[in-house]
Amino acid sequence: MNKLAKGIVGGSLATLGAAAAATLAVRTVQFTPPEEEPRSIEPIGFDFDAAVNCLQQLIRCRTVSYYDRSLEDDAEFEKLIALLPELYPHVFEACTLTRFDDRALLFKWPGREPGNPSVLMAHYDVVPVDESLWEHDPFCAEIIDGVLWGRGTLDTKVTFNGAMFSANTLIGRGFVPKHDVYLAFSGCEEISGPGAAHIVDWFIEQGITPEMVLDEGGAVVQDVFPGLERPCGLIGIAEKGMADVRLSVASNGGHASAPKPHSPVVALAEAIDAVESRPMPLKISEPVRKMLDTLGRYTAMPFRTIFSTIDAFTPALDVFTRKTGGNLNALLRTTVAFTQMQGSAAPNVIPSTASVVANIRINTEDTLDGVLAHLEAAIDDSSVKVEVIDGWNPSPVSRTDCEGYERVARAVADTWPECVVSPYIMVQCSDARHWGRISDRVYRFCGYDVTSEELATIHGNNERIPLDVLRRNIEFYLRVVEQC
Ligand SMILES: [Zn+2]
Repeated sequence: MNKLAKGIVGGSLATLGAAAAATLAVRTVQFTPPEEEPRSIEPIGFDFDAAVNCLQQLIRCRTVSYYDRSLEDDAEFEKLIALLPELYPHVFEACTLTRFDDRALLFKWPGREPGNPSVLMAHYDVVPVDESLWEHDPFCAEIIDGVLWGRGTLDTKVTFNGAMFSANTLIGRGFVPKHDVYLAFSGCEEISGPGAAHIVDWFIEQGITPEMVLDEGGAVVQDVFPGLERPCGLIGIAEKGMADVRLSVASNGGHASAPKPHSPVVALAEAIDAVESRPMPLKISEPVRKMLDTLGRYTAMPFRTIFSTIDAFTPALDVFTRKTGGNLNALLRTTVAFTQMQGSAAPNVIPSTASVVANIRINTEDTLDGVLAHLEAAIDDSSVKVEVIDGWNPSPVSRTDCEGYERVARAVADTWPECVVSPYIMVQCSDARHWGRISDRVYRFCGYDVTSEELATIHGNNERIPLDVLRRNIEFYLRVVEQC
């Protein structure tokens, strides 16, 4: 039994009576996966070399977003946009392109009949690199031993290419979607820019409600869910909210040689300690409940017991995740990470203001206002000012009982037949959140399988994608678009 199961089961058995233990045993026996119907999966063909070439050309454009916009090179963004008619010529035959402010691009591919359209999203900006830490040039798009290297290979030029290349291929074969398909791209996602929001505004103006919106998010991953041997295909049906909150304490400053008791730094330290020792309560959100109910059925004992009656184990899970933090904790509660601290400019000066920024990720069961009230109550000190620098509430939870979700789930299951497909909640932010304003069918899935080592290269060094993963990415997109 690993540490997780030991901690949770041990903590719970101590508090359960014999009758409760018997109920638990019955639940576990009934908690089995649905029978899998035998499916014949159609093989799917396309010009793979062309797909690789397209992604290479996108990587070679240095479309780096910076919070300091003066560092950005507009010509590189324009270079990428100018390449598109050459890379995806059929898209330009069948679709109209509308450009919005902040580098947003929207292609409309008209369908055969009226009806709610589908939207495939991606962003074509990337985060900066520290080239000295890369083993290969981040903007050369070299292929080394079957692996394509470069910034954006995973985040998210691969999905940009997946959407564009699959549309280009299907248009070239004479395919016309049933309803309109939109390809919606942002060029400033990495700095939380407004590109995607402009596109959503336009949809609202036009009165269009999508049947399905697909953006980056989950992936096919292995060894991330306790007790599960099979890989899982995680489709994000919601994302947590985010807030940067500054805590600050002011003072009259002064020389450090004759300090008053309780300097602003100490008051701030007490506030930080108060927040950390009183985490937001654990709340199992609807997406997490759905995930545990789906994946839990495939797990080995004793995990199956835990997931079959998760509420019985919540108190122990609460204690355990407070101690361990990390991914599991992030799925179960609003988290607070202290990131930036500031005091005075000199070692012998008492700061006139001491401050710290907390980066907060808000569970779908909580709200930004609720989190602020929790912070104020935990700190309980009127000298500590709490102010929101930037922030937004969690996204709404998307439906899983509709054609939009089924379409994505089928494409995942057909492309990765060995995996268990499941909803989940994304703990990071994406442009998809803007669509929550007009749709309860927004799904977050990157269209690739990825190892934890490769995942760590996103926003890090040595980002790369194996070519066989790229092949499955295009297959996935072709299967999604064919259903539109
Ligand atoms: Zn990113």
